[in-house]
This record gives sequence, C-alpha cells and structure tokens, in this order.
Amino acid sequence: MTHAQDRALPRAVREAMPMARDVLVEVAKLHGVCIRPIPLKRLDTHTGKWEIIDVPCGATLDSKCPPCAKRNKQLRKAQCREGWHLDEEPAIRPNEANEEQRWLVELRADVQAQRDAADKAGQDTAELDALIAGLDEEINAAGMRGNVLGRATAKRSRSTRRRQDAPDLPKRKMTRTTLGRTFQGSDGKTYRPSLFVTLTLPSYGKVRDGAPIDPDTYDYRRAARDALHFSKLVDRFVQNLRRVAGYDVQYFAAVEPQKRLAPHLHMAIRGTLPRAEIKQIAAATYHQVWWPQADEVIFDGDHLPVWQDGTGYLNPATGEVLPTWDEALDAIDEDAEPLHVIRFGEQIDVQGVLAGTPDADQCIRYLSKYLTKSIGDALDGGQAQQQHAARMLDVLRYEPCSPTCPNWLRYGIQPKDAKPGMLPGWCRGKAHKPEHLGYAGRRILVSRKWSNKTIAEHKQDRRTWVLEALGQADEPTDPHRYVWRPVPAGDANVPPLAVRLLRSVHERQRWRAHLRELEARGTGQDLSATEDVGRAA
Ligand SMILES: [Zn+2]
Ligand SMILES: [Zn+2]
Repeated sequence: MTHAQDRALPRAVREAMPMARDVLVEVAKLHGVCIRPIPLKRLDTHTGKWEIIDVPCGATLDSKCPPCAKRNKQLRKAQCREGWHLDEEPAIRPNEANEEQRWLVELRADVQAQRDAADKAGQDTAELDALIAGLDEEINAAGMRGNVLGRATAKRSRSTRRRQDAPDLPKRKMTRTTLGRTFQGSDGKTYRPSLFVTLTLPSYGKVRDGAPIDPDTYDYRRAARDALHFSKLVDRFVQNLRRVAGYDVQYFAAVEPQKRLAPHLHMAIRGTLPRAEIKQIAAATYHQVWWPQADEVIFDGDHLPVWQDGTGYLNPATGEVLPTWDEALDAIDEDAEPLHVIRFGEQIDVQGVLAGTPDADQCIRYLSKYLTKSIGDALDGGQAQQQHAARMLDVLRYEPCSPTCPNWLRYGIQPKDAKPGMLPGWCRGKAHKPEHLGYAGRRILVSRKWSNKTIAEHKQDRRTWVLEALGQADEPTDPHRYVWRPVPAGDANVPPLAVRLLRSVHERQRWRAHLRELEARGTGQDLSATEDVGRAA
C-alpha cells in the first residue's frame, strides 16, 4: 500500500482515506493537547533569550477547543466539590498578585494596544475584541475581581435604580458566617446538609420536543429579553436568598440550555433553608430593566440615522440629532414602565443534599454536564427545533443587547459610546449569535467565598502533584523572570500549527509514559492530573 496521492488508486478509495492533517487534530484531542494554542514570545530575563511558547488557548467553557474545554470542566468539578460542604470559614486574605495574574494583565494591556492601533487604522477589530473578552474572563478565572478598566463612567443612580423595591420576604438578622448549619443525628453524627436548586424561566407558549406547538403565539420577544437579562435575575435571587437566610450564602451555579432554548440555572448552595422558603424567594424575585423603549421602530431599511463627526447620529430627513444614551435614560418618565421585567417560572426544584453522598456526586456531575456545550447546542437537529432557533435569532437580531448595542439606532437613540459605522441588526455582541441565543453571560457563576481556592489554584494543585510524582519540585519561580509579548499575526518565527501540534503530542506522550511508569509502581493517583503539565514543563 502506498499513499493517498497514488494516482493508481480509484478515486473513491482515495477520497475515503482520512486526511493526515485531520487525524493529527484528532490525535491531539485524544492527548488532551490544546488544538488552538496561542503563540507568545517570552523573554527569559535570566538568559536574555527570546522564545516562542505555545500557551493553551485556555478556552472558555463553551469554546471550540475540546481539550481545553474538557480540562476546564474537570477543574470546575473539583472547585464545586471543594466548596459545597466546607466546614471551615474560607480564609479571605487580600492576596498579592501572582505571576499568572500579572502576566494576564500585562498581556491584556498589549492586546488592548494592538486593538486600539487596529481601530485607529480603520481595521476590523472583531477578533481582537473577542480575544479581549476572553482575556477578561481569564482574568476573573485567575482569581482577580472586576475588570481592568474598572467602571468606565460614574454609575448612574437615578433612572436605572429606582423602583427595584425589595420584595416582600422574611428577613433574618445577618451573621458573618458563610457556612450552613449542622445538625446532630440521633446516632451522634454531625450532618452538614446543603441544597441543589434548579430555577427556570416562565413559559412563553406550549412546547413539544423543544419546539413551540404554535409558533405564532409563542412569546419570542419575552423569551429573547429574558435570555438577555437572565444573569441580573440570578444576581437578585442571590441577594434575596442572603437576606432571607441571614448568612453570607455561597453558591456554585451553572447556566445551562433547556431544550426549548431558554437558559436555566442549577445551583449548589452551601447550607440549607426550608424548601418552601426557597420557592418563596424565587417567586418574589424579579428584575426590572430601566432602558429606553425598544418597541416602536423609528428607523428601518434604507431610512437609517447618519453619522456626523463632532455631532453624532442624526435623522437624515430632519437633521435632528438623536438623543444620546444618557439623555434617553434621563428622559424616562417617573411613571414610565420598565422596558422589561424578568421573573422565574413556576418550575422550581429544591433538593437537600448531604456531604459525601452519591447524591452529592450526582449533582456535581449534573452541574458540569453541559459545560462543554453552548446554549445553542441544546438543538437536537429536529426541523421544528431548527426553525424555532431561527425565529428566536430573528427576534434577537433587533433586540438591544447592551447600552452600546447598535440596535438602539433602530429605536431612535444613539447607543452609548456611539461611533461611526454602527448599523442596527448588525451588532457583533455575543448575545445575538446562534451559540448564545441571548445569553452572553458566564456559564459558571461562583461566589467569592465558595472555596479557598481560585481556578488558578486548582490548576496549581494538579501541577504540583505531577511534578512531585516526577521528583521535580515545583519551586516558586522568580515572578519577574519572564516577559511575555504577543506575536504579531504572520510572524515567520512561529512554525505552522501542524508542526506545533506534532510537538505537543510528542511531549504529551513522553509525560504520559513517565506517569504510567509511576502508576505501575503504585502511586495510585489519577492520571488526568497530567492535563496541565504542558504548561509546567
Ligand atoms: Zn485550547
Ligand atoms: Zn447587540
């Protein structure tokens, strides 16, 4: 047998052969090697040498790099398990930034500079914007709070905050603990019960197999707005939960897609409350969206606002300048209705869970089950459901996803930070994309005092174990040893992706063999801990 290029082979036989390149990607995935590594230049200040280093894409949970997404999932599971039944108050110490954190912020600064330069040169910044969004998530995942930019403008208090009345709920006196109560069993044992709660959005119309029975009456607009603002409803639920519980309730939650393509929430809660109280809190929780109106279309088709330098967007027919975002907010009447009010639906599930039981394991598996899938992945491919998704996307296309969304122009308002070239219906925000179907927020929501560790520290745990097993101490490196820089696109020093993948696969095989040897000698540890070794090496 020769190779695929052998012209003597019948065409059908030749074409049935897998492409070597595709096989390489498959093999890389099997070995847990990142298939979209980011090349970075690294200066070793001890030796003065520049090197190109592949950093795993560090995929966010719903990304297209399966090995990184899987690795994230494993880490999240460990994090979920660790915090749920904690019996000691997590130590909250304002840590000094570590090497990874500093590196991320430095990288973020460089990418921002590249982005601004591209923007100034009139180039498309979509990819760099996506990279920045990913980095911002990484920055949080690495245990830093907030955003590097801080709050860009002073927080408005008038229009956006009023009328968010506290719902009518019992209120307990706050204690400082984050731990749940324990109970003494008749057997003298101490039990530490926790909760697993599932919250869904309301019905928008009857569905069968994930598609509306009557698409014409299905409330797509409400479904779209609920998805867009879902994360704020979750925030409110947590606030209310803490108020009622009377302690600093901690949670680990996953936002997952339902078959009808609406987001819903699974939440592991530390400590316990009566089931009826949880239901009462969910029923009383709501969020009002105090945005300008987005129901009456003012500009559409060829009749669109035009940009004028120094002025902003104006009505081409009248020359009238459109209200800015702040002006539009200020114009919301005292007796106006909010643009949208979001609440949970009636399907609420509350389960009591005891530490270390098979039930607890089951819930943790459940919490991480869909983490490698995007919201749009709940599609099973049925035609009715495909059409359902298409209708949802149509509605989402013109819904404003944020104050900066170009769709505001459609409703006669200049988006916040308006700039030339904005077109309603063409927002590039995540929320409008088929993978997200309105929900562009984070898929995993973890409260700050869930466990003692950040995801970065969980990573470190694994790395340390592997290095110890290999007899190499994971000594703290000089935090200022390396200087990282992004590699410009098309840099000739970066080998083709295939070559880099081959190297990584080889490297991974070496480590695996090494570990298998150790395992044979009976260290009895989990081989999956090898996942992060690539970075340690
Ligand atoms: Zn990756
Ligand atoms: Zn948008």
